[in-house]
Amino acid sequence: DYKDMSKAKMLEIRKKYCNPMTMKVTYYKKPVYIHQGYMQWLWDVDGHRYLDLFAGVATVSVGHCHPQVTEAAVRQLKRLWHTTNIYIYSPLHEYAEKLASHFPDPLKVVYFTNSGSEANDLAMLMSRLHTGNFDIITLRGSYHGGSPQTMGLTSNAAYKYPIASGLGCHTTMCPDVFQGPWGGSHCRDSPIQTIRDCSCSPGCCQANDMYIGQLKEVFATCVPSRIAAFFGEPIQGVGGAVQYPKNYLKETYKLVRERGGVCIADEVQTGFGRTGSHFWGFQGHDVMPDIVTMAKGIANGYPMGALVTTPEIAASFAKGVHFNTFGGNPVACAIASSVLDTIREDGTQQNSADVGTYLLKELAKLRDKYEIIGDVRGKGLQIGVEMVRDKASRQPLPADAMRQIFECTKDMGVLIGMGGVYGQTFRIKPPMCITKEDADFFLAVFRHALESYMEQR
Ligand code: PMP
Repeated sequence: DYKDMSKAKMLEIRKKYCNPMTMKVTYYKKPVYIHQGYMQWLWDVDGHRYLDLFAGVATVSVGHCHPQVTEAAVRQLKRLWHTTNIYIYSPLHEYAEKLASHFPDPLKVVYFTNSGSEANDLAMLMSRLHTGNFDIITLRGSYHGGSPQTMGLTSNAAYKYPIASGLGCHTTMCPDVFQGPWGGSHCRDSPIQTIRDCSCSPGCCQANDMYIGQLKEVFATCVPSRIAAFFGEPIQGVGGAVQYPKNYLKETYKLVRERGGVCIADEVQTGFGRTGSHFWGFQGHDVMPDIVTMAKGIANGYPMGALVTTPEIAASFAKGVHFNTFGGNPVACAIASSVLDTIREDGTQQNSADVGTYLLKELAKLRDKYEIIGDVRGKGLQIGVEMVRDKASRQPLPADAMRQIFECTKDMGVLIGMGGVYGQTFRIKPPMCITKEDADFFLAVFRHALESYMEQR
């Protein structure tokens, strides 16, 4: 009979045999030892239950061990685990067609990978081959992967190494209307407004013009009129649920295309209904990308990634051989296919909109009450709560204070995430099956964690 290892043994092995960095990124002073999950809940080895508002970083989309998805996985595991995709087998084709049906024309050609980094690597290569150009632009604060190529796209110091990773990659100022020099209320597409007034009129926006001005300055440092691609997350994930002024992506796409580039939407965190209002985050910006990359929520936590592009770009790429052993694995495809069905049948996207909007509105009330909550933002169940020393300075709340609130929230049974360029933003991106009652439980816990921090400081 299988028996779980003791906590002491797991910790010993982690210290001795695992990547030492992973000791740091457990974050918690008292680590959480997870044993089991069901829907929005996780249980530790001692039987304590946690409300999971981080979902393995926006990855468990429809719920831990969702019965329907689990059944699809088991059914496929019993039939065929793997074969190379030089053969033709049903799960890959069923899923390719189903995934493509979730995209508008001409985004219809699907490539399978095993992770978001791989999908973005592929997108970099594809954009360069298709355009014949080399320069790629991303937003500061973004995370697009940890492979040597995608590390060049990622623009967050915590994930950088001193290797030649960013050849041809440039970053532009993130159009963050809270921390950036321009913008405020009305600038972004959110059910709530920032606390900071913006001089722009509704519909905006001067702030947008200023951030676009920054992008034009970056163009001036690149090969003239020869951009290969612009990569952007519809809402920055690791960067702390950062949202841009309403027309920013639309104008950026236009300027990039004028310079010969293609536009790439990284939907690794924002796809599959997470933003509530739309199935894909890019649709909330009223833009049409040339390439879309996805992973995480695509298979509810089973390792998988994908890229969708146009037949024209796919034709340019077909000049070389692209092979990926596990890309399109039958089990991954069967799971991902069941995830799409489940999203439709469970009303997951609508739930993301309803519970997410409720949570955002309630969090905004806390923001108005507590001096250390600077900004509450996001859409659907992609939410950021940016913590500050005080509202006037907007300086990040120090790391020890963040950790105290984080630890206390966990001790009361709720798991959230931390992110942002300075680690100053709590991130909420739960399995999209959470209820309003779960949101209320979190709000009560979070309020208590804030109060106890403030009493002690
Ligand atoms: N893009 C985004 C927006 C991400 O958040 C991540 C992972 N945090 C990636 C790409 C890379 O995905 P993976 O870890 O599956 O390689």
